[in-house]
Amino acid sequence: MSDPATSPSLSPVWTRLTDIRPVRGEGAWLEDERGERWLDMTSGIGVTNTGHAHPRVVAAVREQAERLFFGQANIVRLPQAEALAQRLGRVTPDGIDTFFFSNSGAEAIEAAVKLARHATGRANLIVFQGSFHGRTHQAMAMTTSKTAYRHRYQPLPAGTFVAPFPYALQLGMDEERAIDFALAQLDLLFATQSAPDETAAMVIEPVLGEGGYVPAPARFLAGLRKRCDEHGILLALDEVQSGFGRTGTMFAVDHAGVRPDVLIMAKGLGSGFPISAIGASADLMAHWEPGTHGGTYGGGNAVVLAAASATIDVIVDEDLPAAAARRGEQLRDGLRTIVDRYGISAHVRGPGLMVGVEFVGRHGPDAELAKHVLRGCLDERMLILGCGPAGNVIRWIPPLVASEDDVAQALQRFERAVRRSLTRLERAS
Ligand code: PLP
Repeated sequence: MSDPATSPSLSPVWTRLTDIRPVRGEGAWLEDERGERWLDMTSGIGVTNTGHAHPRVVAAVREQAERLFFGQANIVRLPQAEALAQRLGRVTPDGIDTFFFSNSGAEAIEAAVKLARHATGRANLIVFQGSFHGRTHQAMAMTTSKTAYRHRYQPLPAGTFVAPFPYALQLGMDEERAIDFALAQLDLLFATQSAPDETAAMVIEPVLGEGGYVPAPARFLAGLRKRCDEHGILLALDEVQSGFGRTGTMFAVDHAGVRPDVLIMAKGLGSGFPISAIGASADLMAHWEPGTHGGTYGGGNAVVLAAASATIDVIVDEDLPAAAARRGEQLRDGLRTIVDRYGISAHVRGPGLMVGVEFVGRHGPDAELAKHVLRGCLDERMLILGCGPAGNVIRWIPPLVASEDDVAQALQRFERAVRRSLTRLERAS
């Protein structure tokens, strides 16, 4: 009999952190088929914000599944879609009150681009260095977090221009200078590559995700807003990874107090059920001509919609943004103590439970140490991911329901992984 771990039934295109086979999950924990428990600091890349199998989401799914699975959005008006839109309207920034549903983050990016082009009658987009927006061709054209995501898929759709992101450490500047530099380069881009009157939208992650877990400073986002207002350009915020309580507020942009024209959401919205959304004002959405966009499944799966509504209820009722802020502080404090204790040069940053630890060696990014620590965490039965173009950032995205004890355990496992990595690297050198 073929070994299921190596059998050719799944495409090799998926890279995989581990070969563990989870059979159940609860909160921040996964249990594999051998009965071993794994501490999950990935949330499936920012998806299970409410934790694995939250009882209220389970109940909503069960109840809906017994009544109706599906009602296609072009054929019927599903009450579950309207209920979700109402809930989203209560938690999204002021002015965002009209929603379009799809299935994945990349599909929501596609929808945002199509809305922006229709509404403005303009073609071009501006994105920011290091962003990740997804795997479809349009989203790939907007993604510059790693060459691997576009390698051998080029040429990609035209009309996308890349401006610098104020990633101070990468630019070798302090934050204020990095902001000035990035805004000046954006103005230069308007003067030399995409005139403002042919630019439909700027699309930005308020916290760079795959690109290294780097928050966009509030002054930078305000600078984008100002330029968008001056030139009639739409500001679209990709909150696919940073949304739904992750950063200590419902959306990361709430920290900056900047008004988005389009909000792009996915991941944490469905607790693991595939759903994404874009939100905009009713006025802006009115420019989207009926029939010019859609899809079979978007906004049509009543079970998924019920899961998403239950997810928002849990986030609000349990005040998960506040929980993320508290646990995030505990995590960052603990991580700083550990890097200091072992004399490691590392930057610990990020709001709420969207925390990055960037290892920096004497000659630049220290990917070697990050790689060893990541492997060491797996040896400790803790799931955790890296990010950043150099692979020297470890990112922490635990479920927002992680308890104080879960975070304390995660820190202990991380410390043991760091200690062993340092010993191994000393031995190796
Ligand atoms: N945008 C951001 C910020 C993301 O982190 C991701 C996925 O990681 C996407 C878009 C694409 O989402 P999906 O993988 O659901 O297509």
